[in-house]
This record gives sequence, structure tokens and C-alpha cells, in this order.
Amino acid sequence: MNKTENKTEVIVVGAGPAGIACAITLAKAGKEVVLIERGLFAGSKNVFGGAIYTQAVKEVFPDFEKNAPLERRNIEHNYLILGEKDSTNISYRKSDNSSYSIVRAKFDRWMAEEARNAGVYIVEETVVRELIKDKNKVIGVRTELEEYYADIVVLADGVNSLLAKQIGLRKNIDTKDVALSVKEVVKLDKDTINQRFHLKDDEGSIVEIFGGPMLGMLGLGFMYTNEDCITIGLGVTLNELVEANYRPFEMLERLKQHPSIAPLVEGGTLKEYSAHLIPEGGYKKIPKLVDNGVMIVGDAAMLVNNLHWEGTNLAMISGKLAAETAIEALDCGDFSKKSLSAYPKRLQKSFVLKDMKTYKDLFDVMHQRKRAFLSYYLKKVNAFFEMFTSSDCVPKKDHYHKFIKSIFTDRKISELFKDVWAIVRLLWSILL
Ligand SMILES: Cc1cc2nc3c(=O)[nH]c(=O)nc-3n(C[C@H](O)[C@H](O)[C@H](O)COP(=O)(O)OP(=O)(O)OC[C@H]3O[C@@H](n4cnc5c(N)ncnc54)[C@H](O)[C@@H]3O)c2cc1C
Repeated sequence: MNKTENKTEVIVVGAGPAGIACAITLAKAGKEVVLIERGLFAGSKNVFGGAIYTQAVKEVFPDFEKNAPLERRNIEHNYLILGEKDSTNISYRKSDNSSYSIVRAKFDRWMAEEARNAGVYIVEETVVRELIKDKNKVIGVRTELEEYYADIVVLADGVNSLLAKQIGLRKNIDTKDVALSVKEVVKLDKDTINQRFHLKDDEGSIVEIFGGPMLGMLGLGFMYTNEDCITIGLGVTLNELVEANYRPFEMLERLKQHPSIAPLVEGGTLKEYSAHLIPEGGYKKIPKLVDNGVMIVGDAAMLVNNLHWEGTNLAMISGKLAAETAIEALDCGDFSKKSLSAYPKRLQKSFVLKDMKTYKDLFDVMHQRKRAFLSYYLKKVNAFFEMFTSSDCVPKKDHYHKFIKSIFTDRKISELFKDVWAIVRLLWSILL
């Protein structure tokens, strides 16, 4: 950083996975980069379930498995459908993992330290208040105390991205396009976690939860095992919470009291709780990603694949691709929108926008048919297993007939057809 003029080559706003990935890629290519973070340190403001995905992290930190603070190797995925008092669990287990559970406060701090060692100049405890423009080009940022100038500014400031809004790249988020997620970290000793989740050593388990207190709402619950604590939380679309006047922490309390969950968290001590927004709009709500002198990455660009609970990987890869674009732009001295448009083109070629595009219709369909898919059919799954596992001296065939009849009497036939049609349309848009 040229301190006399407060001018550098690239300023990155926000030290989350997107911002750090961008900054370290630039620094490794020998570029001057300043990373500005409002928190006390990178990760201090982050709220997270959560799993990080090995392949995406390796693209930025090839040796992270040797050095990074990782909690557990996730070897099991559970899909848990909660009824009033019962539940159905679909479980998939594989000994080699493709993700790790982490604690963001530790992991982001580690990533930031790696970035610092690679040459990134990190400014902490500093909020970027606004972007500085000269005519129609972004030329820097204004913090509480100072102005910093750069050839390119990368916005990695997370889901709210007030800065992208300020320069008209993003509109206010519709409450239907964002979920409010609340979570608790519950401390338990390692052996208790291993015993309750049927794990050994550093093996970890992910539980995705449907129904329960979120029944009929566009929302999911989750549990992740860390080394000596469990993360439990849920996320529900904001407009539904407002409409139903539900308090998310009360929903989380109800989730923790469910007979299938309570034994897993029993006796634990609450270590922290927090709330955060998650972008839910999908492909159709991705904002303009570049303008003269500026690019948007990660959550700020709404790059989250909700169905697969993937956000950090999209954030890191988008940060890396923005950095590669910035490197080219710096080498040829062209910071125009046209030059930076190479960034969305790179994203289009990567899994990031390919995956987002695959699920482009998912949320529209889910919004339209949520009562069906997230209430009626979930209840039917549990009802089926209740019927199938009961032994009450009634002939099985009578049970089957009664169950099948209930499908047609509990829901109008016209609605059943609409559900099937919605699934066909959705599969069509996903697979073609
Ligand atoms: C409860 C929960 C569970 C999740 N679980 C998972 C999971 O299991 N796996 C997964 O891959 N993803 C998960 N996600 C999503 C994931 O957390 C995000 O997609 C990811 O953190 C996005 O990274 P980012 O760098 O774009 O933004 P962030 O991580 O939000 O980082 C933005 C950074 O910018 C800083 N900042 C903001 N404004 C300013 C400003 N004006 N000036 C300076 N600094 C600023 C913030 O302090 C923050 O450090 C989860 C999210 C939540 C809320």
C-alpha cells in the first residue's frame, strides 16, 4: 500500500471466505491488496452452521487439511423428517469425507493469517461506510476515519451488502428471498457426542431437519457436530416468519424439545447463540456482478446453493475468480466494466453459476407448493412408517388400503395432480 496517497491496487471489503479467498489469490500473484474487515478479527462477526467443502477450500488453500483448525470430518449425512412426536431418518455414511465441520471464528482467523503471511494488508475493526466514485467509476472506499483508493474494489461484505445497494448494483432484498437463521452452540464432551451420534475419533455427522416447528414453512433445521460442541439451528424465509409472527428462537426451543432431538442435546451447556440472514433468492436474484472498478462476490452476490447448504464454497470460488479477473485487469491497466466482465464469464463456466442455474426454478416451485411438500407429504412419510412398523393384529393389506385411501381423501385430487406436475416441471428444469 502506498501510504502517502492511500492508494493500492485492490481493496477487498469483508474478510469472510469470499473476501479472504480473493485477497490471498491477489497477493500470491504479487498484487497489492488491502482487506478491510469491520469485526475485531476475521470470523468474529460470522455465524455459521456449518460445513466447509474440501475441494473448494483446496483450490485456495491446497494444504489446509494439514494446518487449518478443523473440528470433524463429516462422514455421515442424515435427513430427518420430524412429526409431532415421531420422525423418519434417512442416513448416508461414507468413511472418506468431502466436508469438515468448523468454527468460523477460528477458521476465518486462520485463513486471514494465511492471507497476511502471503502479503495481504489487513485492516480490522474498520467499517467501510461508502464507496468513492469518480464520474461513473468506483475509485475507493470511505471508512469512519479515512479514505482508501484503489484501481479495483471487490465487495465481499456479505448478505446485506449495503455498498452494492449504494451504487445501484443491488436492490433491497425482498423478505421472500432471504432466510433468517438462528443457531445455538451447545457444549458437550467429545465422548458424549461420539456416543450419541455413533461416531468415533474425529468423525462428524450432519443432520438436516425437515418439518417439526418448521412444518409447512419454507425452512430447514440443522445440526453439526464439532469437536466438543454441537451446532443446532434453523432457517426460515423471512416473509413467512413475519406473516406467522413467529419468533425464531422459540421455534428453535421447540426443535430442541422434540423427542428425536432432545436426547442429542440433553445436558449440554449453551455456549453461544446468534442470528444471521442467508440469501435464498437463487439464480434469478443474482445482482449485476460488475461495474467500472468494482466486482461483487460471495453472499453479497447472493451466491448460495440452499438445497445443498453450500455457501462458503461458492463464496471462495467466486472470490478466487474475481481475483483472477483483477490480476488480468491490473496487468493490462483496464478496470472498466467491460474488462471486469470476464468475472461473470468465469463464474458461468464454473460450478458456481452452473449449480445456481440448475436450481433456478426451485424456490418458485417451493414457494407455490410449500404446504404440500413441506407439510402434507412430510406427514405422509411419517404416517407410512408408523403404519409399516406397527403390529396390531390387523391384516397388513387393510393398513395399506387405508393409507392409500387417505392420500386421496386428505388432499384434493386436483391438488395432487398439481403437485405431480410441479415435480415433473422441477425435474425437467433441473435435469435439462
Ligand atoms: C446459520 C448459518 C449456517 C450456514 N451453514 C453453512 C454450511 O454449513 N456450509 C456452507 O458452505 N455455508 C453455510 N452458510 C452460508 C455461509 O455462511 C455463507 O455463504 C458464507 O459465509 C458467505 O461468505 P462471504 O465471505 O460472502 O460473507 P460473510 O461470511 O458474511 O463475510 C462478510 C464479511 O464482511 C464483513 N463486512 C460486512 N460489511 C462490512 C463493511 N461495511 N465494512 C467492513 N467489513 C464488512 C463482515 O463482518 C464479514 O466478516 C451458513 C450460513 C448461516 C447463517
